[in-house]
Amino acid sequence: MDKNIRICIVGGGPAGLSAGMYLEQKGYENYTILERQDRVGGKCWSPHYNGRRYEMGAIMGVPSYYAVKDVEDFCGITHDGPKLNRNYKNAKGEVIEPFARTIGNIIKNPWMLKMKSQLKKFGELLETKYKGYDINGHRGVAEGRYEGYAVTPGREKVEGVNPNLKDLAMPFKQFCEMNGVPLVQKIWIGPFTSFGYGYFDEIPAGYVVKYLDYQTCMNFVKVNLWTWKEGTQYIWEQLNAHLKNPARLGSTIEKVERRDGKVYVTVNGQVEEYDKIIITAPLYIPGTRADGQKGMVDYFDAREDEKALFSKIDYERYDVQAVLTRPEDHPEISYYVFDNMVPEKLGHLMVYYRRWKDQIDQVITTYALRKHKNSKEIPYEECRKMVLDDLKTMHNPASNVVNEWSVYYFPHVFSDDYAAGWYDKVEAMQGKYDTFYAGEVMSFGDMDETAEYSRELVDRFF
Ligand SMILES: Cc1cc2nc3c(=O)[nH]c(=O)nc-3n(C[C@H](O)[C@H](O)[C@H](O)COP(=O)(O)OP(=O)(O)OC[C@H]3O[C@@H](n4cnc5c(N)ncnc54)[C@H](O)[C@@H]3O)c2cc1C
Repeated sequence: MDKNIRICIVGGGPAGLSAGMYLEQKGYENYTILERQDRVGGKCWSPHYNGRRYEMGAIMGVPSYYAVKDVEDFCGITHDGPKLNRNYKNAKGEVIEPFARTIGNIIKNPWMLKMKSQLKKFGELLETKYKGYDINGHRGVAEGRYEGYAVTPGREKVEGVNPNLKDLAMPFKQFCEMNGVPLVQKIWIGPFTSFGYGYFDEIPAGYVVKYLDYQTCMNFVKVNLWTWKEGTQYIWEQLNAHLKNPARLGSTIEKVERRDGKVYVTVNGQVEEYDKIIITAPLYIPGTRADGQKGMVDYFDAREDEKALFSKIDYERYDVQAVLTRPEDHPEISYYVFDNMVPEKLGHLMVYYRRWKDQIDQVITTYALRKHKNSKEIPYEECRKMVLDDLKTMHNPASNVVNEWSVYYFPHVFSDDYAAGWYDKVEAMQGKYDTFYAGEVMSFGDMDETAEYSRELVDRFF
């Protein structure tokens, strides 16, 4: 492709900014990043409180975040944040040890031994029966193929045929049961459901194991995690500051028209002409959202195939509150409440995070899901109240809510569409209307999978 083409990138989150970085590294310098908000980072949002930054969005990474490491190297920064520590409580607010780490506990909980053996079996199955499962993105999976970069420090290009990969379309619960390893869900649920990625009886296994590949999940178990002192938003602020063309903040895109090999973008009342457009912002949002976010199909001259495919996308209703407590009510550590990570406890507090161990006058953040296929969606206000009541039950009542948001979180498709080749159909449309689709739905809703997808997209098409 001609290195001088004019490329418009919609969205200044991890996907959009890293697309800019990879394009620039490949010699494409004529790109423009349009960001609708007055800050970059998207769901990496780290506001200030009392001299420090807390996390309303992304919190952590793992050592296999190779694309995030690319960004760190590009900017000369590193993961220098506070160590994550956690403990566990039951729904009654009592501190518990769910994983029976001592011999005495293991004797009292024989299922632990079973779980350990299923964990080992699961690791082996992923490497053998499901070879190719951890490649970034979902291209080929429904056809029993894999093609992309391995999740290794060298990120070798790999491809192959593996019909077993088709199993990844089924919900993770069914996938585990079919493979005789149902107890691994007890481990995977921690960094999955409580992190807002939905329930195992409805989310296709492909999403679960691509994000939580075996190595990544074990890093969560061993708390071998990265954080950033100035918050995850800092990663993207730094990247933005190091790009030749930083994002144009406050860009309201009114209209996008694609005709005669050109892309016309009406932004803040002015029409701009581009040759290609990469969209990392939401492709489709069912219903309306209080924050006014819209899907691409609402402001692009969306074609019938785009509308038909993107209307299959749903997302998680994941709510975050930042609260203060009285000093005597402050939790000594972050807590996971496994009892509340099941659909029957929809809307309840699943995790609360104390980020700054050395300072009490700081916020803690709470996390809850309020949508599941078999239940009525819990209204935002109701869920907010449930979480505040739960904090009382946990003996850490909030004195004040200082920040809150209901996130457009983890866009994905469900098993039927995944199995019917949704991803291969969308991948086949890449470039068709001078348009490329990137961002969370194309891979997974975490910083690294989205940035890695942008790397691959640039590598494949530019
Ligand atoms: C509570 C929470 C916890 C999380 N924890 C982690 C974690 O620990 N680790 C991890 O790796 N990830 C985590 N994530 C997920 C991670 O933040 C996201 O997956 C990642 O930010 C996705 O990047 P993106 O660029 O695809 O999308 P986004 O971050 O959503 O960025 C999209 C950008 O596009 C902009 N935009 C939207 N519409 C338009 C438009 N019409 N025009 C112009 N711009 C537009 C948005 O304002 C935004 O800046 C968490 C997220 C949340 C909310």
